Amino acid sequence: MKKLSELVFNNTYSALPRSFGTFIQPQPLDDPFLVSVNPKVSEMLELDPTQAHAQYFIDLFTGNDDHPAMSPLAMKYTGHQFGQYNPDLGDGRGLLMGEVQTSSGQKWDIHLKGSGLTPYSRQGDGRAVLRSSIREYLASAAMSGLGIKTTHALAVLASNTPVYRETVERGATLIRVAESHLRFGHFEYFFYTQQHNELKTLADYLIKHHFPDIDSQQDDTSRYSQMFNKIVSLTAEMIADWQTVGFAHGVMNTDNMSVLGLTFDYGPFGFLDDYEPGFICNHSDYSGRYAFNQQPAIALWNLSALGYALTPLLDKALLDQALEQYQPILQKAYSAKMRAKLGLKEKLEEDTPLFSAMFDLLKSQSVDFTLFFRTLSSVPHNELQASGHLFENIVKDIAPLEAWLEMYSQRLEKESCADGDRLDQMRSTNPKFILRNYLAQQAIELAEKGDFAMIEQLMTVLQAPFDEHPELSHLAERPPEWGKKLEISCSS
Ligand code: AMP
Ligand code: MG
Ligand code: MG
Repeated sequence: MKKLSELVFNNTYSALPRSFGTFIQPQPLDDPFLVSVNPKVSEMLELDPTQAHAQYFIDLFTGNDDHPAMSPLAMKYTGHQFGQYNPDLGDGRGLLMGEVQTSSGQKWDIHLKGSGLTPYSRQGDGRAVLRSSIREYLASAAMSGLGIKTTHALAVLASNTPVYRETVERGATLIRVAESHLRFGHFEYFFYTQQHNELKTLADYLIKHHFPDIDSQQDDTSRYSQMFNKIVSLTAEMIADWQTVGFAHGVMNTDNMSVLGLTFDYGPFGFLDDYEPGFICNHSDYSGRYAFNQQPAIALWNLSALGYALTPLLDKALLDQALEQYQPILQKAYSAKMRAKLGLKEKLEEDTPLFSAMFDLLKSQSVDFTLFFRTLSSVPHNELQASGHLFENIVKDIAPLEAWLEMYSQRLEKESCADGDRLDQMRSTNPKFILRNYLAQQAIELAEKGDFAMIEQLMTVLQAPFDEHPELSHLAERPPEWGKKLEISCSS
């Protein structure tokens, strides 16, 4: 494990032409302090986690010191926001600080969110508040714990600098770590500004650093078409993961879409409590464009926007061919994951009605999505038909549930897998813990008073969400009444 000063950097992105971004230093925050560090992320970087407590670390990531091997850069990108093209985007409050190179050759972007004004800040203040930094910190750990591709968060730092949102809040930074911060919007920028050489440079960069299995000897058409195919399938797989775990992103603008299929830019996201397909987590999303059940279609819309930006590099026919793969890849990944949630190994005709009856039940009875599957994962086959009472706290009316349990029980007769193995597999597929909004809210309110204990408790369960953690079971409970109506806006 290394000290911060010993990390090795290889800043490949900042070596690209100047049109890719602007070099700029973070602006200092007052009286900075550490809120939380994630040792797992630290270890990915080969950085000794105790380093996060050192004054140098705190100063470096709050704009009060610098690192000789970092070259902070605000990345330029554009994108479609709520369906409209916006040419004025870019890192408006974040900086790519540098790219750490580990001893195995893995490269990690270190990005500082909340670092102050950049040329792309528009009317914003370049800052992030403690509330939203904690939300992103916890969500990154939660997604990672669920086995879903995501950016990571190394640490949250806070300060006494006031930041004005609906009220005055505490200025904070989040250190984001990811294989890459490249977004669909990076390609859109070069396309819409007719910088087609740079568009090609960007595609070559992506292939070289992130898709090494694409053979560099092949012709451009073949390389770029493989690149786009990969982005399509990585995106489809990410969406399948979101839909099976009940994650709603909330702002699926093309500038928030990672070309590596990482869950990216945590704003007004939310996990489903009760199953509600039309769930809108973003209070500013009046039309429900980014509702939970719209995500599969929106991701395809976003991929089409990316495809359009690639037209200088690829024939429309090849782009369309890749886009046509989206639906089948998503469907295959989604149904494999849903089947695993019910512990079904065999694929039978009768499974379609079983699943539709289940979704009808979840919806009409406002069943807690996570607790339903988790509870189901604890019931042996021969006890299923008499297990309705186990679901008492999570369904309104037991009778329709019992009818479905009967159907499920009959279906399990046709499985050859040992029942104990089925239950083990279900418990490793259906989490006990997700990042419920009301829990994040409680942790934030405590943190704003200087108490970070709940953040640490949540990190424990979210990073191992399939384990029981009996002493922390209260963190698996469905929300109390007040916790169901929290409104999350884009303001962060
Ligand atoms: P988001 O809604 O978080 O995806 O951000 C959309 C755009 O607004 C991006 O270009 C961000 O960099 C920029 N942005 C968001 N918040 C701020 C802020 N407080 N100050 C400056 N720019 C911001
Ligand atoms: Mg964004
Ligand atoms: Mg954001």
